[in-house]
Amino acid sequence: MAAVIRLLRPSSSSSLSLAGRSFSTAVVTEAVKSQTYTQNPAPTAVDPKGRNVQWVFLGCPGVGKGTYASRLSTLLCVPHIATGDLVREELNSGSNLGKQLADIVNQGKLVSDDIIISLLSKRLEAGEGKGESGFILDGFPRTVRQAEILDEVTHIDLVVNLKLPESVLIEKCLGRRICSQCRENFNVASINVKGENGRPGISMAPLLPPPQCVSKLITRADDTEDVVKERLRVYNEKSQPVEDFYRGQGKLLEFDLPGGIQETWPKLLEVLNLDEQDEKQSVAA
Ligand code: AMP
Repeated sequence: MAAVIRLLRPSSSSSLSLAGRSFSTAVVTEAVKSQTYTQNPAPTAVDPKGRNVQWVFLGCPGVGKGTYASRLSTLLCVPHIATGDLVREELNSGSNLGKQLADIVNQGKLVSDDIIISLLSKRLEAGEGKGESGFILDGFPRTVRQAEILDEVTHIDLVVNLKLPESVLIEKCLGRRICSQCRENFNVASINVKGENGRPGISMAPLLPPPQCVSKLITRADDTEDVVKERLRVYNEKSQPVEDFYRGQGKLLEFDLPGGIQETWPKLLEVLNLDEQDEKQSVAA
């Protein structure tokens, strides 16, 4: 805990300039107030002028948190920290801890709060050593306890909650493939869900690998149908309350994915008031 407090300490006093421009989420907060994708009252995130963003991405397994958090981290020049990746690194390291975690992860259960916080602390400490500032967290917090600990030690500016219907999430998880060499993520699922009950239809083209990756594709051990269903059950039980936690703080931006990356990415930039065309690393002012 002490390590987390030290590592996640409030950084609002430290000003960091990106390519000569200070980054502020004030305009994002304004965007959140006016955008059409939120179903909640306008978030009232404190304006953390003068430091990098500290955002959280929430959403069920398979919704695409990693894809969009990673793209935004490149755009905003902040680290994308996915606790699932930290867990998988531990599993692949062959450490004793990794061996203990394998069963938990492969059954679709959550790793204990203590272990995940310790992995996150180590990652942040390494980043701090390299001068990293700000973050986009993906897959953390996943329990209300984790959210409370995060709140005790730092300020979260914005929480983006990505949403897709459950049937699409299952198809997407089952279609996920990773290149064992370059570690790039692909998806072989072709999704076409008809609109019903006032909900628009959803089409997502597969994200196919380039020829050099085709023979090296692997599937995550926890992307089998039974495990995906268990992960969704665990999400509804343990992680949905995290949405309520941030909704109560007025920080939750609800975002229903309209389709694949081609449709979703520009809309996400729009609601975040970001502009890829302008200048990388900057907020459209
Ligand atoms: P993900 O890649 O985010 O789906 O995470 C893969 C697995 O890592 C999860 O199913 C959990 O077993 C574990 N995990 C990742 N993040 C957390 C977290 N914040 N709390 C507990 N377990 C986690």
